[in-house]
Amino acid sequence: MTIAIVGAGMGGLALARVLQVRGLEAVVYERDSSPNARDQGGMLDIHSGQQALREAGLLDDFLAIARGEGQDMRLLEPDGTLLLQEDTPDDAPLLRPEVDRADLRKLLLDSLPEHTVRWGHAVESAGDGVLRFTDGSTATYDLLVGADGANSRIRPLLTDAQPVHTGHNAVELGIPDIDRTHPDLAAMVGRGNYWVLGDGRSLAAQRNGDGRVRIGLSFYNTAADWFATSGIPFDDPAAARARLLDLFADWHPRFRALIAACDDTIVPRSISTLPVGLTWPSAPDVTLVGDAAHLMPPVGEGANMALLDGAQLARSLAAHPDDFPSAIEEYEREMFARTSAIGRESARIQELLTQPDASRRMLAFFRPD
Ligand SMILES: Cc1cc2nc3c(=O)[nH]c(=O)nc-3n(C[C@H](O)[C@H](O)[C@H](O)COP(=O)(O)OP(=O)(O)OC[C@H]3O[C@@H](n4cnc5c(N)ncnc54)[C@H](O)[C@@H]3O)c2cc1C
Repeated sequence: MTIAIVGAGMGGLALARVLQVRGLEAVVYERDSSPNARDQGGMLDIHSGQQALREAGLLDDFLAIARGEGQDMRLLEPDGTLLLQEDTPDDAPLLRPEVDRADLRKLLLDSLPEHTVRWGHAVESAGDGVLRFTDGSTATYDLLVGADGANSRIRPLLTDAQPVHTGHNAVELGIPDIDRTHPDLAAMVGRGNYWVLGDGRSLAAQRNGDGRVRIGLSFYNTAADWFATSGIPFDDPAAARARLLDLFADWHPRFRALIAACDDTIVPRSISTLPVGLTWPSAPDVTLVGDAAHLMPPVGEGANMALLDGAQLARSLAAHPDDFPSAIEEYEREMFARTSAIGRESARIQELLTQPDASRRMLAFFRPD
């Protein structure tokens, strides 16, 4: 039986690895031309997903690359008031450590036999046991798993559901080598997460393992075409920074200093989600894992769910090696229940972020008493 996985992200690689641990082979078709073809993005907060890494036999290796101090958190109001500061003791358990996405992807990739991942294979469409790639080539499968993220090409085989814009537009930017270039700002941000929330906007700064501080500026309750009317000229980084400073003109100068110190990599991100609790009638030879199945707001759960999906599907397939349709049904039952609960909670947190008093609400969330 040929198991074809489309997408070498967290979900696809966790599935391939746990299958291998359990004695089943799979082929992963990935659009990127090589492991380093694309910047993998910033840090991931990995908590429940550690269970999947344990099943993959990779938990110790993960803990060796995870950053415990990345659990540090500072929460502030736009006027500069510090509401919460949590510093992680050196001996604290690694319950929610941060890991560089590229490091975690490399850990999973290095654990797989060579040639498991077929780089430079962008799937155009699939069905009836055949995968069609954009270069005109094809491959066959007995079982197809869509692990190809938010804009999955495999999802339409199972459901008409499409991601819908959430009213959240974000701009990603960052300060390279911050300890050397801006030690004052480095001390202000600290070792982990630095959040300023309120007034329909937020600034989330986070130290990465390579000394870069990544910054996400979010604009809530904005339209899907907001970037076109925002006046942010993404093709002119200096002018884009100036416009972003205008958009945060009423915030404390220390937050604006963070924006002013950013380099020229300024990327727009429009945030969409799939309907919470999405399900579909089970099909005998196709299923989905990760964002392809349950794209959620980016509040720290998506990668964890993708890892758990991969591990659960591998477990079900290994338990029913001669009956993949039953394995898929078992997997989807567990996945739908788990991810709809987490999806509801993620939507609640996302809703909280859009409120004018988001920082106070977030404080109450972290400190219910
Ligand atoms: C700003 C931000 C911060 C986040 N922070 C966190 C966090 O701290 N913790 C957390 O748990 N989650 C976080 N998430 C969510 C997390 O990034 C995703 O949920 C997770 O990456 C989903 O994994 P995946 O394997 O399903 O998809 P992806 O990681 O998107 O991987 C999909 C793969 O499929 C490939 N692909 C796509 N189309 C095709 C095609 N047609 N043919 C072949 N290959 C294809 C892509 O190149 C990619 O390699 C964050 C998200 C954002 C946007």
